[in-house]
Amino acid sequence: ATPVAIMVGTGKGAEQGILIKSGEALETAHNLQSVVLDKTGTITQGRPVVTDIHTEGWTKKEFLALAAGMEVKSEHPLAEAILDYAKKEGISPVQVDNFNSIPGKGLEVSVNGRRYYAGNERLMREKEISLDNCLKLLEVMADEGKTPLIFAEETQVLGVIAVADVVKPTSKEAIKELKDLGIEVVMLTGDNRRTAEAIRRQLDIDTVIAEVLPQDKERKISELQEAGKVVAMIGDGVNDAPALARADVGMAIGAGTDVAIESADVVLMKNDLKDAVTAIRLSKAVIRNIK
Ligand code: ADP
Ligand code: MG
Repeated sequence: ATPVAIMVGTGKGAEQGILIKSGEALETAHNLQSVVLDKTGTITQGRPVVTDIHTEGWTKKEFLALAAGMEVKSEHPLAEAILDYAKKEGISPVQVDNFNSIPGKGLEVSVNGRRYYAGNERLMREKEISLDNCLKLLEVMADEGKTPLIFAEETQVLGVIAVADVVKPTSKEAIKELKDLGIEVVMLTGDNRRTAEAIRRQLDIDTVIAEVLPQDKERKISELQEAGKVVAMIGDGVNDAPALARADVGMAIGAGTDVAIESADVVLMKNDLKDAVTAIRLSKAVIRNIK
């Protein structure tokens, strides 16, 4: 494309809240073959809420006080959901010690010298905590697109809290439009496989890559590129930044974190996935060389 066409394209993007930081990205976007979408905060609103609480041998109140206490120091949006819920129920979090975050899996704390864990199945298996009593429950929750968080002490599960995040109103349509452009739509998430699969079905996404640790997102982009694809990544979080930088076109969405915005070639200011489609259409127009 000519410099003038790129300037015109960039200007048109800006008018619609699409900040295009490089002319090269604007050109590359015309022949994208795969668009990789982060789930939380990109496809969904990123403000999960508690939907179900299951516990055995404890009152709901006791269990929530412990769960909330464990989550107090976590900065994860899942923790916020649990703390908000406890607050609404008028429950004060219990005091815990030795908080330790386990990225991509959950957290550990101690209470009165005993270890307690909160997190996903992977964490529980690593800690050799038996899931026999709650496997069915975990499956049912995940099949509904909810994320089950397991709370356990040293050897056994104490309870499960399901949390769900609302899909943004335009995500489904944006995904359909990307597919109509002949682009493969991939969802990349740290969430569990079954939950991710439920959301894949709901939104008719082509491919899901789930249970990805934060530090591995970038490698998933490289793998698609090594398979010969021109790849865009769209994300909002700190842990999306390396993947955004690695992709042929990185797009930061909405009120994304500063690091994500810095690492991206394009910023979708309106927090709307449909603007990714607009950016790609703009690129195609620029390549056809609008004057
Ligand atoms: P994502 O942001 O895509 O959900 P993360 O890598 O941040 O992915 O987290 C992956 C999984 O680890 C979560 O889905 C959850 O099961 C577990 N997890 C992370 N943080 C917490 C937490 N504070 N409390 C309980 N579970 C957590
Ligand atoms: Mg995110």
